[in-house]
Amino acid sequence: MNDDNLKWAEEVIGSSSYIQQARQARSRSESLLKVLLTQRRLPESPWPDSMITMVLAEIAGMDSNNFDGNIGLGERESRIYSSLVSSRHYHFGHGIGRSGDIAEIQPKAAGSSLVMKLTNAMVLDAIRISGATKQAAAACQILPLATGMTLALVLRTVANSRPGAKYVLWPRIDQRSCLKSIVTAGLIPIVIENILDNDQVTTDLDAVAAVIDKYGPESIVAVMTTTSCFAPRVPDRIVDVAVLCKDRAIPHVVNNAYGLQSSKFMHALSEGCRIGRVDVFVQSTDKNFMVPVGGAIVAGPHKSLISDIGKMYPGRASMSPVMDLFITLLSMGSSGYKDLLAERKIMYNTLRHKLQVFAERHQTWLLDTPRNDISLALSLQPMDLDERKQSPSMLGSMLFSRLVSGTRVVAKGAKKTVCGIDFDGYGAHIDNYPVSYLNVAAAIGMREPEIDMFFERLEKVFKELKIGSYRVVSG
Ligand SMILES: *Cc1c(COP(=O)(O)O)cnc(C)c1O
Repeated sequence: MNDDNLKWAEEVIGSSSYIQQARQARSRSESLLKVLLTQRRLPESPWPDSMITMVLAEIAGMDSNNFDGNIGLGERESRIYSSLVSSRHYHFGHGIGRSGDIAEIQPKAAGSSLVMKLTNAMVLDAIRISGATKQAAAACQILPLATGMTLALVLRTVANSRPGAKYVLWPRIDQRSCLKSIVTAGLIPIVIENILDNDQVTTDLDAVAAVIDKYGPESIVAVMTTTSCFAPRVPDRIVDVAVLCKDRAIPHVVNNAYGLQSSKFMHALSEGCRIGRVDVFVQSTDKNFMVPVGGAIVAGPHKSLISDIGKMYPGRASMSPVMDLFITLLSMGSSGYKDLLAERKIMYNTLRHKLQVFAERHQTWLLDTPRNDISLALSLQPMDLDERKQSPSMLGSMLFSRLVSGTRVVAKGAKKTVCGIDFDGYGAHIDNYPVSYLNVAAAIGMREPEIDMFFERLEKVFKELKIGSYRVVSG
């Protein structure tokens, strides 16, 4: 309500003091909104839900479908049949962007465009809070595509600036979507096998250099490295690869799927941008910001490349992943986000410590992967499973049936063909990893009671399978 209407409201209820309070409340929320519009960063403190819904309603009123008396003569007029669907989207219906550019303002939808711009700005702030320097994160764009599809769009955009190039050098990571993103972009992957460094699976830098020399830099679209991954693989040697890419003038794309939650990974990315070459890094919205699956963020040191990626997106785009982030980031505030990051670090250390204690009690060991800041791996050998010809993967399904999700058993020697390429020891990111193991991750939002319940259930599974300290010694 503006001042004029508040005056009239005063007349209606016949009291000025109550309306005075309402006026103060309104001015507090107006000033919160002004801070957001002028500073274009995460608010320091979380916004209450009531404030968020009020602002959403106000902004939705700026879109043509919500103008009183508006008639639509076009073929796409945001006519929403179901009121349930309309309210699920807070009455936004036009999506974002125009056919030529996802970042462009949509004339029918000033409100949607505003939400997109503000959300991009808040996400950029969050990426910097995560540990990226301003140089590394000069710009970002949210896309309504999950990580794999976004990587495909990024690679396609980079390829367009390198006519004649067709190869993507890819230090192996056993996640099918990564490899598929290269093939979807119409490019040819060259798998760089990893090497073993004690328990850790890591980048073979010499092999990357040798492949560049063999094929020639001009035939290579990009090197695609990965930060966040399942242990015992550790993040690629981002800084070394960045230096190599700068030296050979080859683009460097980083898959940072859930890497925003690790300050270690973010510092490596920033260092790579400072002394070497990183063109873009891509991260998932759901894995980093606790929203439903459906979006990813491209970020990097060059505004023009981020903008080119936005222009590559064909057509208008869903606004849902953007709005989920808009709501979530306002509701988190920078204080909430920082708390979550700090808490995750504590959970990682707790989980690692408890796994160590568990491993010792069951005569196995926690794989030593200090460079992986998120994922951990517990060796499932030596155990009776092999001798009994039982697959360790049954442990994974037993955990799943006991309502433990997200753990993952990698059994030795699995073979798999992905995009026509044969892999040995699939899942372990390297041929012949010496043991089978169980993966667990300390990801953003995890709480200590979950860790405790996990160990209770894992203990039960060990008991049932008669492994570890429950092993039956025959004789
Ligand atoms: C999750 C993940 C992907 C795939 O992400 P989608 O969002 O499902 O496309 C790719 N690479 C890594 C390392 C991941 O963790």
